Amino acid sequence: MREVDLAEVFGLADDLGPAKVIQVHEPSLGLKAVLVVDNVARGPAIGGLRMAPDASVAECFRLARAMSMKNSAAGLAHGGGKSVLWGDPHMPRERKEALVRAFAHAVRNETDYIFGPDMGMDETAMAWVQDEIGRAVGLPAALGGIPLDQIGATGWGLRHAAEIAAPYRGVSLKGARVVIQGFGAVGKHAARFLAQQGAVLVAASDSKGTLVAAGGIDVEALINLKHEGGSVVDFASGDKRAVDAVIDVDCDIWIPAARPDVIREDNAARLRTKLMLQGANIPCTPGAEKLLHERGVLVVPDFIANAGGVICAALEYRGATQAAAFEAIAEKIRVNTAAVLSQVRDKGALPRQAAVELAERRIREAMSTRRFGIM
Ligand code: NAD
Repeated sequence: MREVDLAEVFGLADDLGPAKVIQVHEPSLGLKAVLVVDNVARGPAIGGLRMAPDASVAECFRLARAMSMKNSAAGLAHGGGKSVLWGDPHMPRERKEALVRAFAHAVRNETDYIFGPDMGMDETAMAWVQDEIGRAVGLPAALGGIPLDQIGATGWGLRHAAEIAAPYRGVSLKGARVVIQGFGAVGKHAARFLAQQGAVLVAASDSKGTLVAAGGIDVEALINLKHEGGSVVDFASGDKRAVDAVIDVDCDIWIPAARPDVIREDNAARLRTKLMLQGANIPCTPGAEKLLHERGVLVVPDFIANAGGVICAALEYRGATQAAAFEAIAEKIRVNTAAVLSQVRDKGALPRQAAVELAERRIREAMSTRRFGIM
């Protein structure tokens, strides 16, 4: 965990939020966590719980805002929030369960926050939260949930964003060369759904390295390998390269699905792609997005392209079926991607600027109807 610089963190606050910030510290358990509830004008915040050893509080602020924007852009009656629990996500299960349960219990009265899964978390972890406080989404099917990471809700949304965005750069999904950075819950399903459209996975990476095969990678076989606990670099065929080498692979569609800020001003020029669909949250620095825009790389911003998981979660919270959730994801992401990209084409706007305007307009409309503004 990085030292907290309060000046930096609260310097990020503005008139949209955050509404509340809660730090949880329980030394006897080794529990350190933070919850940021950003904006709840549209309804209670939905946002993921992330377990990571190195996330910062400032990152949690930015991710909470990204959720406010994403939920608004997706047209959901929910605000945005995020929580970070510091620790190694691969710690023994008993310890992880104890920490997740203790954190959920500590924020049990914060009814403006509904837990969802994020990096280092899964459906089982959400079941622990549900058991503690009855306020979680992304639950296992056994608890009546729609297991969004198992079914690939976010990957399904990325596939629809790809279909709308591709013609803007003269790309056809059939035969499109796809690169995935981070072959986890988001990345592997994006690869699977895009392969069903005829796209070809030419590279995939995880925290151990990068697998490259210009002739195409068997997506189902790679998913099976990951399910067995292997890394992409354990795959039987293809070239094995360093983690960072995934940035240099020539392709039509590059999908970051790992960590924030992986593309920055210092490495953006290395990308050789026509489209970037942001599966991860905030994978590019603002400066890098500007550079990509100037180079003609069309970026579909995170909270437009990767909203599939949260749309699914919001529908689950209302008791909808999996089929209804998939239909809603496809419809909402197609409509929102088209709305943003038409602004980019007609007004020359940066994609993120167009997306932020769409989302912010909806949040401010909701705030104007609330008695206590953002509270
Ligand atoms: P995950 O933990 O299932 O997968 C992450 C993958 O990234 C793993 O394969 C890991 O090995 C790999 N990775 C880690 N560091 C890496 C690095 N430096 N280079 C390459 N690969 C690396 O997580 P996930 O649920 O797939 O989430 C990935 C990203 O997508 C996160 O930014 C998350 O916030 C975002 N996101 C997730 C969802 C969802 O539905 N799960 C929805 C929206 C956004």
